[in-house]
Amino acid sequence: MKTGVLALQGAYVEHMQALQKLDINPVAVRLPVHLSGLDALIIPGGESTTIYKLMHDYDLIKPLQELGRAGMPMWGTCAGMVLLARYAVDGSVSTLGLMDIRVRRNAFGRQIDSFETPLPVRVLGKEPFPAVFIRAPLIHQVGPEVEVLARLPNRQIMAARQGKLLVCAFHPELTGDLRFHRYFVDFADH
Ligand code: GLN
Repeated sequence: MKTGVLALQGAYVEHMQALQKLDINPVAVRLPVHLSGLDALIIPGGESTTIYKLMHDYDLIKPLQELGRAGMPMWGTCAGMVLLARYAVDGSVSTLGLMDIRVRRNAFGRQIDSFETPLPVRVLGKEPFPAVFIRAPLIHQVGPEVEVLARLPNRQIMAARQGKLLVCAFHPELTGDLRFHRYFVDFADH
């Protein structure tokens, strides 16, 4: 399976390293030509406004929207989640609009802009996932086709899936725990 990581800005190197640990040799996607023959794509965390601007500048918006609509498995982490969403509720960033979720950016405010917490994620097994949040968004609303995969104890939604689209508000690539990457690669491959 040919898996790409959108490599314009943000934590793409860490995602590529995590995939390499799973014996996958990822493609760094920077230009439309890098999308040819691709089977799955990760959109990393970083700064969603910057990533969107670069996607626009490199003519990636339309091809990514077409691939997403055609069913290509895509996983957005943190800023990547914002970019896959239908829209950000404050309208502060344009998105690809592929997944039926509405997100709130920087949802945890300045006081606690980064934190780590053990998060139960049903599809990853009994052991909670070490979720690293950095100026994280949250999923404010989900559409009927969306399956919620994880919530904080206060019920805020932190991970979800809609068909072959996967999102999480945190950064699995910054932990040594490869379960989230394995989950994505497994469902992308079937
Ligand atoms: N706050 C960032 C944004 O909305 C996301 C932060 C991150 O990806 N760690 O773009």
